[in-house]
Amino acid sequence: MNKKKTISIVIPAYNEAENIPVIAQRIQEVFQSLPGYDYEIIFVADGCTDNSLEIIKGLGKEASVFYLEFSRNFGHQLAIKAGLDYAKGDGIISMDCDLQHPPELIPQLIGKWEEGYEVVYTIRKEDKLLPYEKRITSKLYYRVLNKLSSVELEAGSADFRLLDRKVVNVLKRFEENEPFLRGLVKWLGFSQYAICYEPAQRFAGKTKYSIKIMMRLALQGVTSFSIKPLYMMVYLGFLFSSLSVLYIPYVIYAICSGHGVSGWASLIMTVVFFGGLQLIILGIIGVYIGKMFMQTKTRPNYIVRSTNIKD
Ligand code: UDP
Ligand code: MG
Repeated sequence: MNKKKTISIVIPAYNEAENIPVIAQRIQEVFQSLPGYDYEIIFVADGCTDNSLEIIKGLGKEASVFYLEFSRNFGHQLAIKAGLDYAKGDGIISMDCDLQHPPELIPQLIGKWEEGYEVVYTIRKEDKLLPYEKRITSKLYYRVLNKLSSVELEAGSADFRLLDRKVVNVLKRFEENEPFLRGLVKWLGFSQYAICYEPAQRFAGKTKYSIKIMMRLALQGVTSFSIKPLYMMVYLGFLFSSLSVLYIPYVIYAICSGHGVSGWASLIMTVVFFGGLQLIILGIIGVYIGKMFMQTKTRPNYIVRSTNIKD
């Protein structure tokens, strides 16, 4: 007889005390309708300052609920990454703790996985409840990101997805200190399938993402995927150098019409040309420093204070 497959569910939680029991309950209900699977829930307590961790530990006594406690807040993406690193399942699902990612979608994710897709990710349908500015900025963000990097991300991609064991084993080898999982997973390849879903409202508590953090995440997204901004500097240098050539007709005109101050022509040409050249050189140096910078940071990406997951 085939062994039962195990599904791991990784849930990053940052001060989500009220949501934790509810999401655990809903996941349990979902798996009651999926008797062919075992499951484990891994909550990653990302530097919680409320009693989230106690609540998780309380749940763990009866069901297969595990916790990973970080030594401080390391952020949503690293919390998911840690969960993936520790998960033992054959298929690993990551989802938010606030129930915006409906657990009832899990059977669909598993269904597609059983059809042979190695990555089953989800795309949020446009949320009519979201403020207009947020919808516009999100669209704009994905457009810029797609222009700047070599991966194509759909607007509304969420960190709610199922990954096959094979894919997680590959992801585990990634040592990026600012992983941008949405992009990374897309970049990995494998056979991928997208499911659209209607996002729910946050069940309890407030969003952890302020505008400032969103900006940082947006910048991380771009910079962890490309050094195109650095190349842009180089192009800018070339542009200004070429523009300096345009000064030649003007200089000739100025001299012929008697407006030229003696010495001015050679001076302006030199200044403009070398200004451009310096930008090019700085840009090129920048590109190399950027590449090295990305390589040299070998600090641990997250620090686990405690866990009840056995190796
Ligand atoms: N989260 C986290 N660390 C953080 C910020 C958020 O683990 O520093 C978790 C949070 O508990 C939730 C998920 O990441 O489970 C998504 O966060 P949130 O719902 O605040 O983001 P939004 O849905 O508003 O984009
Ligand atoms: Mg949320």
